[in-house]
Amino acid sequence: MIVMKDNLLINRILRVVKKHRHFLITGHARADGDCLGSELSLARMLSRMGKKVRIINPVSIGRELLFLPGAKQVEVFREGDKLPVNNIEVIFIVDSGGLGRLEEMEESIRGILNRRNRPFLINIDHHPSNGNFGDINWVDYKRSSVGEMVYLLIKQSGIKIDKEIATNLYVSLDTDTGHFCFSSTTPMSHLIAAELIRKGVKIREVYKKIYEEKTLGEMKLLIECLKRARLALKGKVVWSVLTREMYRKYKATPSDSQNYLSFLRTIKGVRIALLFRETEKGRLLIKVSIRAEEPIDADKLVRPLGGGGHHRAAGLTLNPPLKKAYQQLINHIKNFVTTDPYPALFINFRGK
Ligand code: 5GP
Ligand code: MN
Repeated sequence: MIVMKDNLLINRILRVVKKHRHFLITGHARADGDCLGSELSLARMLSRMGKKVRIINPVSIGRELLFLPGAKQVEVFREGDKLPVNNIEVIFIVDSGGLGRLEEMEESIRGILNRRNRPFLINIDHHPSNGNFGDINWVDYKRSSVGEMVYLLIKQSGIKIDKEIATNLYVSLDTDTGHFCFSSTTPMSHLIAAELIRKGVKIREVYKKIYEEKTLGEMKLLIECLKRARLALKGKVVWSVLTREMYRKYKATPSDSQNYLSFLRTIKGVRIALLFRETEKGRLLIKVSIRAEEPIDADKLVRPLGGGGHHRAAGLTLNPPLKKAYQQLINHIKNFVTTDPYPALFINFRGK
Protein backbone atom coordinates (compact mmCIF):
# COMPACT_ATOMS: atom_id res chain seq x y z
CA MET A 1 0.00 0.00 0.00
CA ILE A 2 3.02 2.25 -0.18
CA VAL A 3 3.28 3.36 -3.77
CA MET A 4 6.34 4.17 -5.86
CA LYS A 5 5.72 7.93 -5.72
CA ASP A 6 5.79 7.84 -1.88
CA ASN A 7 9.07 5.93 -1.88
CA LEU A 8 10.68 8.39 -4.25
CA LEU A 9 9.68 11.39 -2.14
CA ILE A 10 10.50 9.71 1.17
CA ASN A 11 13.98 8.85 -0.05
CA ARG A 12 14.51 12.39 -1.30
CA ILE A 13 13.45 13.74 2.09
CA LEU A 14 15.74 11.33 3.95
CA ARG A 15 18.68 12.32 1.73
CA VAL A 16 18.13 15.98 2.67
CA VAL A 17 17.81 15.02 6.35
CA LYS A 18 21.09 13.10 6.30
CA LYS A 19 22.99 16.06 4.84
CA HIS A 20 21.94 18.62 7.47
CA ARG A 21 21.95 19.17 11.21
CA HIS A 22 19.66 22.05 12.15
CA PHE A 23 15.92 21.70 11.61
CA LEU A 24 12.79 23.77 12.21
CA ILE A 25 9.33 22.19 12.21
CA THR A 26 6.09 24.12 12.04
CA GLY A 27 2.45 23.69 11.01
CA HIS A 28 -0.86 25.49 10.71
CA ALA A 29 -2.19 27.92 13.33
CA ARG A 30 -4.13 26.43 16.27
CA ALA A 31 -2.51 23.04 15.66
CA ASP A 32 -4.98 20.16 15.75
CA GLY A 33 -4.14 16.58 16.71
CA ASP A 34 -2.82 15.71 13.27
CA CYS A 35 -0.62 18.78 12.98
CA LEU A 36 0.89 18.49 16.46
CA GLY A 37 1.17 14.69 16.39
CA SER A 38 3.03 14.90 13.08
CA GLU A 39 5.35 17.65 14.29
CA LEU A 40 6.25 15.82 17.49
CA SER A 41 6.83 12.41 15.92
CA LEU A 42 8.90 13.95 13.15
CA ALA A 43 10.93 15.90 15.74
CA ARG A 44 11.59 12.74 17.72
CA MET A 45 12.72 10.90 14.60
CA LEU A 46 15.15 13.73 13.80
CA SER A 47 16.53 13.96 17.36
CA ARG A 48 17.05 10.23 17.41
CA MET A 49 19.10 10.67 14.22
CA GLY A 50 21.31 13.11 16.14
CA LYS A 51 19.80 16.28 14.67
CA LYS A 52 19.03 19.58 16.39
CA VAL A 53 15.32 20.30 16.13
CA ARG A 54 13.04 23.14 17.16
CA ILE A 55 9.29 23.20 16.78
CA ILE A 56 7.87 26.71 16.57
CA ASN A 57 4.12 27.08 16.13
CA PRO A 58 2.04 30.13 15.24
CA VAL A 59 -0.28 29.75 18.25
CA SER A 60 0.07 28.00 21.59
CA ILE A 61 -1.14 24.41 21.94
CA GLY A 62 -4.75 23.73 22.96
CA ARG A 63 -5.14 22.45 26.52
CA GLU A 64 -6.43 19.06 25.38
CA LEU A 65 -3.24 18.31 23.41
CA LEU A 66 -0.66 19.34 26.02
CA PHE A 67 -0.34 15.74 27.19
CA LEU A 68 1.26 14.62 23.92
CA PRO A 69 4.80 13.32 24.53
CA GLY A 70 7.22 16.18 23.83
CA ALA A 71 4.52 18.88 23.65
CA LYS A 72 6.41 21.01 26.16
CA GLN A 73 9.26 21.52 23.72
CA VAL A 74 6.98 23.41 21.32
CA GLU A 75 7.80 27.10 21.20
CA VAL A 76 5.16 29.70 20.41
CA PHE A 77 5.69 32.45 17.91
CA ARG A 78 4.29 35.79 19.02
CA GLU A 79 3.35 38.55 16.65
CA GLY A 80 6.30 40.93 16.24
CA ASP A 81 8.78 38.15 17.10
CA LYS A 82 11.70 37.41 14.85
CA LEU A 83 12.15 33.73 14.17
CA PRO A 84 15.44 32.80 15.85
CA VAL A 85 16.55 30.65 12.99
CA ASN A 86 19.89 31.88 11.72
CA ASN A 87 21.42 28.43 11.67
CA ILE A 88 18.34 26.58 10.41
CA GLU A 89 19.15 24.53 7.31
CA VAL A 90 15.86 22.74 6.73
CA ILE A 91 12.27 23.74 7.48
CA PHE A 92 9.45 21.19 7.60
CA ILE A 93 5.91 22.53 7.25
CA VAL A 94 3.22 19.94 7.98
CA ASP A 95 -0.56 19.76 7.55
CA SER A 96 -0.77 23.19 5.90
CA GLY A 97 -2.31 23.72 2.47
CA GLY A 98 -0.50 27.04 2.07
CA LEU A 99 1.83 29.43 3.87
CA GLY A 100 -1.25 31.52 4.70
CA ARG A 101 -2.30 28.84 7.18
CA LEU A 102 0.70 29.82 9.32
CA GLU A 103 -1.17 33.09 9.96
CA GLU A 104 0.98 35.28 12.29
CA MET A 105 4.12 33.39 11.26
CA GLU A 106 3.57 33.60 7.51
CA GLU A 107 5.46 36.84 6.98
CA SER A 108 8.52 35.70 8.96
CA ILE A 109 8.70 32.39 7.14
CA ARG A 110 8.38 34.17 3.79
CA GLY A 111 11.15 36.55 4.92
CA ILE A 112 13.46 33.63 5.65
CA LEU A 113 12.62 31.96 2.36
CA ASN A 114 13.49 35.14 0.47
CA ARG A 115 17.03 35.18 1.83
CA ARG A 116 19.92 34.32 -0.46
CA ASN A 117 21.12 31.46 1.70
CA ARG A 118 17.69 30.25 2.50
CA PRO A 119 16.86 26.99 4.27
CA PHE A 120 15.52 24.03 2.30
CA LEU A 121 11.74 23.73 2.62
CA ILE A 122 9.92 20.40 2.92
CA ASN A 123 6.13 20.44 2.63
CA ILE A 124 4.29 17.36 3.93
CA ASP A 125 0.52 17.59 3.63
CA HIS A 126 -2.76 15.94 2.67
CA HIS A 127 -4.95 18.90 1.64
CA PRO A 128 -6.14 18.84 -1.99
CA SER A 129 -5.70 22.62 -2.11
CA ASN A 130 -1.99 22.44 -1.27
CA GLY A 131 -0.04 25.06 -3.19
CA ASN A 132 3.21 23.02 -3.48
CA PHE A 133 5.21 25.81 -1.87
CA GLY A 134 8.18 23.64 -0.82
CA ASP A 135 11.43 22.52 -2.41
CA ILE A 136 10.11 19.03 -1.84
CA ASN A 137 6.33 18.68 -1.85
CA TRP A 138 5.02 15.41 -0.50
CA VAL A 139 1.31 16.08 -0.86
CA ASP A 140 -1.17 13.23 -0.95
CA TYR A 141 -4.82 14.03 -0.39
CA LYS A 142 -5.67 10.33 -0.27
CA ARG A 143 -3.88 10.01 3.07
CA SER A 144 -6.18 10.19 6.09
CA SER A 145 -3.70 12.32 8.00
CA VAL A 146 -0.20 13.71 7.81
CA GLY A 147 0.54 11.33 10.69
CA GLU A 148 0.07 8.46 8.25
CA MET A 149 2.73 10.00 5.99
CA VAL A 150 5.17 10.68 8.84
CA TYR A 151 4.71 7.05 9.87
CA LEU A 152 5.94 5.93 6.43
CA LEU A 153 8.86 8.34 6.64
CA ILE A 154 9.90 7.07 10.07
CA LYS A 155 9.62 3.44 8.95
CA GLN A 156 11.88 4.14 5.99
CA SER A 157 14.38 6.04 8.16
CA GLY A 158 15.05 2.91 10.20
CA ILE A 159 14.29 4.71 13.47
CA LYS A 160 12.34 2.48 15.82
CA ILE A 161 8.79 3.50 16.63
CA ASP A 162 8.79 3.87 20.41
CA LYS A 163 5.80 4.55 22.64
CA GLU A 164 6.26 8.35 22.38
CA ILE A 165 6.28 8.35 18.59
CA ALA A 166 3.43 5.83 18.53
CA THR A 167 1.25 7.99 20.79
CA ASN A 168 1.81 11.10 18.70
CA LEU A 169 1.12 9.28 15.44
CA TYR A 170 -1.96 7.63 16.90
CA VAL A 171 -3.37 11.02 17.91
CA SER A 172 -2.76 12.25 14.35
CA LEU A 173 -4.69 9.37 12.85
CA ASP A 174 -7.44 9.21 15.44
CA THR A 175 -8.29 12.91 15.36
CA ASP A 176 -8.14 13.38 11.57
CA THR A 177 -10.19 10.26 10.82
CA GLY A 178 -12.86 11.02 13.46
CA HIS A 179 -11.85 7.84 15.31
CA PHE A 180 -11.47 5.90 12.06
CA CYS A 181 -14.98 6.73 10.82
CA PHE A 182 -14.55 9.48 8.20
CA SER A 183 -14.48 8.44 4.56
CA SER A 184 -10.75 9.27 4.47
CA THR A 185 -10.12 6.18 6.64
CA THR A 186 -8.47 3.32 4.73
CA PRO A 187 -7.31 -0.22 5.52
CA MET A 188 -3.84 1.31 5.78
CA SER A 189 -5.00 3.69 8.55
CA HIS A 190 -6.22 0.68 10.53
CA LEU A 191 -3.06 -1.32 9.90
CA ILE A 192 -0.91 1.59 11.09
CA ALA A 193 -3.13 2.08 14.16
CA ALA A 194 -2.80 -1.62 14.98
CA GLU A 195 0.99 -1.36 14.93
CA LEU A 196 0.92 1.81 17.06
CA ILE A 197 -1.30 0.16 19.65
CA ARG A 198 1.10 -2.76 19.73
CA LYS A 199 3.87 -0.27 20.54
CA GLY A 200 2.04 0.67 23.71
CA VAL A 201 -0.43 3.49 22.93
CA LYS A 202 -3.01 3.66 25.70
CA ILE A 203 -6.02 4.32 23.49
CA ARG A 204 -8.53 4.87 26.27
CA GLU A 205 -6.22 7.34 28.04
CA VAL A 206 -5.59 9.24 24.82
CA TYR A 207 -9.31 9.46 24.01
CA LYS A 208 -10.13 10.63 27.51
CA LYS A 209 -7.48 13.35 27.51
CA ILE A 210 -8.63 14.79 24.21
CA TYR A 211 -12.39 14.42 24.45
CA GLU A 212 -13.41 13.85 28.05
CA GLU A 213 -11.82 16.61 30.05
CA LYS A 214 -14.37 19.30 29.38
CA THR A 215 -15.47 21.89 31.87
CA LEU A 216 -19.15 22.21 32.72
CA GLY A 217 -19.04 25.58 30.93
CA GLU A 218 -17.86 23.93 27.73
CA MET A 219 -20.65 21.41 27.98
CA LYS A 220 -23.21 24.19 28.44
CA LEU A 221 -21.77 26.02 25.47
CA LEU A 222 -22.29 22.90 23.37
CA ILE A 223 -25.88 22.67 24.62
CA GLU A 224 -26.49 26.33 23.67
CA CYS A 225 -25.01 25.68 20.26
CA LEU A 226 -27.26 22.65 19.70
CA LYS A 227 -30.28 24.61 20.94
CA ARG A 228 -29.64 27.24 18.30
CA ALA A 229 -29.34 24.74 15.47
CA ARG A 230 -31.63 25.41 12.51
CA LEU A 231 -32.29 23.58 9.28
CA ALA A 232 -32.06 25.22 5.88
CA LEU A 233 -32.54 24.24 2.24
CA LYS A 234 -35.30 21.76 3.02
CA GLY A 235 -33.41 20.02 5.78
CA LYS A 236 -30.33 19.33 3.69
CA VAL A 237 -28.29 21.87 5.64
CA VAL A 238 -28.00 22.31 9.39
CA TRP A 239 -26.31 25.33 10.90
CA SER A 240 -25.60 26.88 14.25
CA VAL A 241 -23.58 29.67 15.82
CA LEU A 242 -21.17 30.40 18.63
CA THR A 243 -21.06 34.09 19.48
CA ARG A 244 -18.51 35.98 21.59
CA GLU A 245 -21.31 36.57 24.05
CA MET A 246 -21.76 32.81 24.47
CA TYR A 247 -18.01 32.26 24.97
CA ARG A 248 -17.97 34.93 27.66
CA LYS A 249 -21.03 33.59 29.42
CA TYR A 250 -19.60 30.09 29.77
CA LYS A 251 -15.93 31.08 30.07
CA ALA A 252 -15.16 28.66 27.26
CA THR A 253 -13.00 28.88 24.19
CA PRO A 254 -13.88 25.97 21.96
CA SER A 255 -10.98 25.21 19.65
CA ASP A 256 -12.79 22.09 18.62
CA SER A 257 -15.45 22.59 15.97
CA GLN A 258 -15.23 18.90 15.12
CA ASN A 259 -16.95 18.03 18.35
CA TYR A 260 -19.86 20.42 17.76
CA LEU A 261 -20.29 19.47 14.14
CA SER A 262 -20.18 15.77 14.88
CA PHE A 263 -23.48 16.24 16.73
CA LEU A 264 -25.08 18.57 14.20
CA ARG A 265 -24.32 16.33 11.24
CA THR A 266 -26.12 13.32 12.75
CA ILE A 267 -29.56 14.72 11.88
CA LYS A 268 -31.28 12.53 9.30
CA GLY A 269 -31.31 14.01 5.82
CA VAL A 270 -28.58 16.56 6.52
CA ARG A 271 -25.90 16.75 3.83
CA ILE A 272 -24.01 19.81 4.98
CA ALA A 273 -23.38 20.97 8.55
CA LEU A 274 -22.21 24.53 9.20
CA LEU A 275 -20.88 26.14 12.35
CA PHE A 276 -20.45 29.93 12.41
CA ARG A 277 -18.08 31.19 15.10
CA GLU A 278 -17.34 34.81 15.97
CA THR A 279 -13.58 35.26 16.30
CA GLU A 280 -11.41 38.26 17.11
CA LYS A 281 -8.45 38.84 14.80
CA GLY A 282 -7.71 42.47 15.34
CA ARG A 283 -11.35 42.85 14.33
CA LEU A 284 -14.45 40.70 14.48
CA LEU A 285 -14.59 37.93 11.88
CA ILE A 286 -16.87 34.99 11.23
CA LYS A 287 -15.07 31.66 11.02
CA VAL A 288 -17.13 28.92 9.41
CA SER A 289 -16.51 25.18 9.71
CA ILE A 290 -18.14 22.86 7.20
CA ARG A 291 -18.73 19.13 7.10
CA ALA A 292 -20.24 17.52 4.02
CA GLU A 293 -21.54 14.10 3.09
CA GLU A 294 -20.44 12.29 -0.02
CA PRO A 295 -20.44 13.24 -2.85
CA ILE A 296 -20.44 16.91 -1.87
CA ASP A 297 -16.93 18.35 -1.96
CA ALA A 298 -16.57 20.83 0.91
CA ASP A 299 -13.15 22.01 -0.28
CA LYS A 300 -14.47 22.81 -3.76
CA LEU A 301 -17.55 24.41 -2.24
CA VAL A 302 -15.68 26.99 -0.15
CA ARG A 303 -12.76 27.78 -2.45
CA PRO A 304 -14.61 30.50 -4.42
CA LEU A 305 -15.16 32.23 -1.07
CA GLY A 306 -11.49 32.06 -0.12
CA GLY A 307 -11.65 28.96 2.08
CA GLY A 308 -10.34 25.45 1.69
CA GLY A 309 -9.74 22.13 3.38
CA HIS A 310 -10.56 18.51 2.61
CA HIS A 311 -13.29 16.89 0.51
CA ARG A 312 -15.60 16.43 3.48
CA ALA A 313 -14.26 18.94 6.04
CA ALA A 314 -13.36 22.51 5.23
CA GLY A 315 -13.42 26.03 6.58
CA LEU A 316 -13.51 29.68 5.57
CA THR A 317 -13.58 33.16 7.04
CA LEU A 318 -16.35 35.65 6.27
CA ASN A 319 -17.03 39.24 7.24
CA PRO A 320 -19.59 40.09 9.91
CA PRO A 321 -22.42 40.58 10.56
CA LEU A 322 -23.35 36.98 11.19
CA LYS A 323 -26.68 37.29 9.39
CA LYS A 324 -25.04 38.53 6.20
CA ALA A 325 -22.33 35.86 6.38
CA TYR A 326 -25.00 33.19 6.76
CA GLN A 327 -27.02 34.50 3.81
CA GLN A 328 -23.91 34.75 1.64
CA LEU A 329 -22.91 31.17 2.34
CA ILE A 330 -26.42 29.73 1.99
CA ASN A 331 -26.84 31.46 -1.39
CA HIS A 332 -23.48 30.13 -2.46
CA ILE A 333 -24.39 26.59 -1.39
CA LYS A 334 -27.67 26.85 -3.28
CA ASN A 335 -25.85 27.80 -6.47
CA PHE A 336 -23.17 25.20 -5.93
CA VAL A 337 -25.41 22.22 -5.32
CA THR A 338 -27.85 22.98 -8.11
CA THR A 339 -25.07 22.52 -10.66
CA ASP A 340 -23.64 19.14 -11.62
CA PRO A 341 -23.10 16.63 -10.09
CA TYR A 342 -25.41 17.47 -7.23
CA PRO A 343 -28.96 18.37 -8.45
CA ALA A 344 -30.40 14.97 -7.64
CA LEU A 345 -29.53 15.46 -4.00
CA PHE A 346 -31.08 18.88 -3.76
CA ILE A 347 -33.80 18.67 -6.37
CA ASN A 348 -36.51 19.92 -4.05
CA PHE A 349 -35.33 23.37 -3.24
CA ARG A 350 -34.69 24.70 -6.73
CA GLY A 351 -35.99 28.25 -6.88
CA LYS A 352 -36.55 28.46 -3.14
P1 5GP B 1 -12.15 22.94 11.16
O1 5GP B 1 -13.55 23.13 10.73
O2 5GP B 1 -11.98 21.71 11.99
O3 5GP B 1 -11.55 24.18 11.75
O4 5GP B 1 -11.31 22.69 9.82
C1 5GP B 1 -11.57 21.61 8.98
C2 5GP B 1 -10.55 21.59 7.87
O5 5GP B 1 -10.77 22.71 7.03
C3 5GP B 1 -9.13 21.72 8.39
O6 5GP B 1 -8.48 20.50 8.27
C4 5GP B 1 -8.48 22.74 7.51
O7 5GP B 1 -7.72 22.06 6.58
C5 5GP B 1 -9.58 23.40 6.74
N1 5GP B 1 -9.77 24.81 7.03
C6 5GP B 1 -10.41 25.35 8.07
N2 5GP B 1 -10.44 26.69 7.98
C7 5GP B 1 -9.80 27.02 6.83
C8 5GP B 1 -9.50 28.27 6.17
O8 5GP B 1 -9.86 29.36 6.62
N3 5GP B 1 -8.81 28.18 5.01
C9 5GP B 1 -8.43 26.99 4.47
N4 5GP B 1 -7.75 26.99 3.33
N5 5GP B 1 -8.69 25.81 5.07
C10 5GP B 1 -9.36 25.82 6.22
MN1 MN C 1 -4.54 16.92 8.88
